Amino acid sequence: MSLPLRVLMLEDSEMDAELVLYELRRAGYEPDWRRVDNEADYLSCLSTDLDVILADYSMPQFNALRALQLMKERGMDMPFIIVTGTAGEEAVAECMRQGARDYLLKDRLGRLGSAVEHALQEKRLNDEKKQALNALHENEEKYRSLFESSPEPIMLIGLDGTILDCNQAAQIIANRPRKELIGKSFQDLGVLDETNMPVIMQRFTEIIGGKLFAPFQIRVIRNDNKILWLEIHVALLKKDDAIYAIQVISRDITEQKQIEAERENLIQELAARNAELEQFTYTVSHDLKSPLVTINGYLGYIEQDAASGNLERLKQDTQRIQDATNKMHALLTELLELSRIGRMMNAPENISFEEIVKDAIDIVHGQLEKRDVTIQTQPNLPIVYGDRQRLTEVLQNLLDNAIKYMGDQTNPLVEIGQHGEEDDKPIFFVKDNGIGIAPEYHERIFGLFNKLDPNMDGTGIGLALVKRIIEFHKGSIWVESKLGEGSTFYFTLPKE
Ligand code: ADP
Repeated sequence: MSLPLRVLMLEDSEMDAELVLYELRRAGYEPDWRRVDNEADYLSCLSTDLDVILADYSMPQFNALRALQLMKERGMDMPFIIVTGTAGEEAVAECMRQGARDYLLKDRLGRLGSAVEHALQEKRLNDEKKQALNALHENEEKYRSLFESSPEPIMLIGLDGTILDCNQAAQIIANRPRKELIGKSFQDLGVLDETNMPVIMQRFTEIIGGKLFAPFQIRVIRNDNKILWLEIHVALLKKDDAIYAIQVISRDITEQKQIEAERENLIQELAARNAELEQFTYTVSHDLKSPLVTINGYLGYIEQDAASGNLERLKQDTQRIQDATNKMHALLTELLELSRIGRMMNAPENISFEEIVKDAIDIVHGQLEKRDVTIQTQPNLPIVYGDRQRLTEVLQNLLDNAIKYMGDQTNPLVEIGQHGEEDDKPIFFVKDNGIGIAPEYHERIFGLFNKLDPNMDGTGIGLALVKRIIEFHKGSIWVESKLGEGSTFYFTLPKE
């Protein structure tokens, strides 16, 4: 069966054309043909529907070189074979350079069939290659548009750690333009500190070794010092089965991490409050009961005193009952006060710390005089932002304790001042030269009902109250002290 073949012949000789058609039919083709011998006709017949162009090298009005040129100008690439009787080697070589696939001499046309077949096959292969390249190009464009427009930051990292490419989102999260990222090694970006650098290097090796595919989290410090948490998803990019880069998609999970940390803090706070509550229940049943037991006991003695008419003892026993009720009163008042912190706060304001100190000294004035305590207050103390009444309570409690735990100090001295800052908050101190506190109790004294000396006056609530007020102001409190060497209570408060 003959193969259909659409042929355009550039030939001025009808006889030569017949010869060519004869050869094509002999080779098994069924030519559907047109013959032209000038530029205008050639252009009107030139179309991609053609299978082959067979061109005489030179015609009176036209030539093969010009025909090749015109075909190229129109972006076409048809199998073009020179069939000539006259052209010299030089001219033929030029035609081949310009894209002709083959050439034949008219007196040796026996090879025409195989030359056409060869040219068609070459064209087919070229078309297939072009299609594959187009598809590749299309895929590349799709990937690039996905890459660029992805809201997730994506980077391509070479096996030596060099950043090969990054999308818009990656530039935003890195806070750097593309030119400051590409060509840099991720180790040199300065976003990893010495603790997580070895971890990342280990991960990187595992990824390249094909051992790690699961997402992992890292903490990075950006050039504006902002700390970000990223969840890293990796994929290996391969060419001819060899890995050449890692595609890194990093999701910003900073907010999620913050929420997790806040949740963790809340849980811890809740656990601490629960423990406090447990202790509270215990103490309420124990500490509040003990004055009641005292009262009950002395009521019995009073009965005896009255019966025996011993007025002197009756007076003493009544005083004991009085002391016990006072103690209960103090306990209940402070407990109530403690339970109110947080709920019963006044609107915060800018207050001079000196005024707070003055107010607190006024309240403890009597005790100071009684124990002959000297107070030295540093001048020009900063302004703080907080609840005036509660902050006065803090100072009052600390002064109370400083006086109460003076021991047998012959020159009782309390110094109040400010020294340095922590987290941008001034550090205040109340320093005494009293009995001091052994280091093992430095934490414990801030808990509820933690009295170091059960024989001392006091409820063990004061410092718990102080701590809660300070923490409510987002500050912190701690003590530095050694037994017998006085104590210094430090605390921070927000600035104006
Ligand atoms: P209290 O009502 O017993 O004073 P606090 O909570 O105020 O309760 O203090 C807890 C314990 O911490 C006190 O019982 C005391 O042992 C110790 N303490 C507090 N302040 C001082 C201080 N300035 N010097 C020595 N010990 C102190």
